[in-house]
Amino acid sequence: MGKRVVIIGGGAGGASVAAEAKRTDPSLEIVILEKGNYVSFSA
Ligand SMILES: Cc1cc2nc3c(=O)[nH]c(=O)nc-3n(C[C@H](O)[C@H](O)[C@H](O)COP(=O)(O)OP(=O)(O)OC[C@H]3O[C@@H](n4cnc5c(N)ncnc54)[C@H](O)[C@@H]3O)c2cc1C
Repeated sequence: MGKRVVIIGGGAGGASVAAEAKRTDPSLEIVILEKGNYVSFSA
């Protein structure tokens, strides 16, 4: 079974972590949990 990274919060920080984790290890499964209705939008 592959490795999964779960990120709490889909703002700029969460999206940056997701991108960097995928660059570091493309085989990672990335899951972002966002409590709001939108991810990484510009205020
Ligand atoms: C009005 C305003 C205007 C701004 N304008 C600019 C700008 O023009 N340029 C700029 O560079 N910066 C701007 N900023 C700053 C920028 O928004 C922040 O620096 C940036 O959003 C921080 O990103 P973050 O991912 O650390 O936090 P956040 O953007 O706060 O993201 C955190 C996310 O986590 C989610 N979350 C929290 N708790 C939970 C939980 N328990 N479970 C699931 N999800 C959860 C929240 O819903 C949120 O989406 C502005 C900020 C504000 C308030």
